Amino acid sequence: MGSNNELEINLLGTLGFNNLLEPIPGQVSHIILPSTMLNWLSRDIPGKFKLCMGADPDRLRRFWADLFSSSVGQEFRNAHPFLSSGQSPEQLQRCIPITIHEDAAPYSKRRSVTTVSWHSVLGEGSDWETRIMAMTWVSDTDNPLDVTHCWHRLLQDFEQLENGFGDGWSATLLWGIGDLEQTVKWGAPDFRVAGDTVLCPWCNANRTTVPFTDLRPDALFRDPPWLPEDNFQANCRGNHPLRQSRYWNAPLV
Ligand SMILES: [Zn+2]
Repeated sequence: MGSNNELEINLLGTLGFNNLLEPIPGQVSHIILPSTMLNWLSRDIPGKFKLCMGADPDRLRRFWADLFSSSVGQEFRNAHPFLSSGQSPEQLQRCIPITIHEDAAPYSKRRSVTTVSWHSVLGEGSDWETRIMAMTWVSDTDNPLDVTHCWHRLLQDFEQLENGFGDGWSATLLWGIGDLEQTVKWGAPDFRVAGDTVLCPWCNANRTTVPFTDLRPDALFRDPPWLPEDNFQANCRGNHPLRQSRYWNAPLV
């Protein structure tokens, strides 16, 4: 939240919302840490925690077993900074799989707001109940905000969740979801720049021999499902904090 939103902060405070906000230094002044929400839900609203976060050992064990049962799932596991330790589905039956989502939305006639939210892959319920906001700011194209600090805080929180929270639970960040414009902001090459021969960090698509415009299920660029890690990293651009984190690998996004 922008630091000049005193009035909104006060209003939210009377609604009890302030307990969830963590102040952070910098242009974005507050963040709602995933650990705050998960601790609160698991402690005070266990029914919602089970439903909206999919916090159910049977379902979680099946989810992890399913994920690891395919060769693509195995590759994902090996590339993941936490799962590559090789925990079994039984050992992960209290570990909640998380995805993050970043997007821009209209804010006023001419401005837009960026939001970063997260949800459990197994969460059930409406978007309002399952998609949890972490941070948001009004975009200013003339004078872009430096949001590095809040990304660092968010990613640090995800790392700590791997070590556990509440009554023997843990959580891990699996992948990020964003539209193409967003993945370019995170580190994918900008496919709209005609001069750049690299179109995509995940596949061999190009404008000629492996056409990116081929949308058939057996299109050449779909094999392999993603590029080897080195090719992926070499194809990425920029220094977004997510790209520089340990979670940044081909299967993440
Ligand atoms: Zn691609």
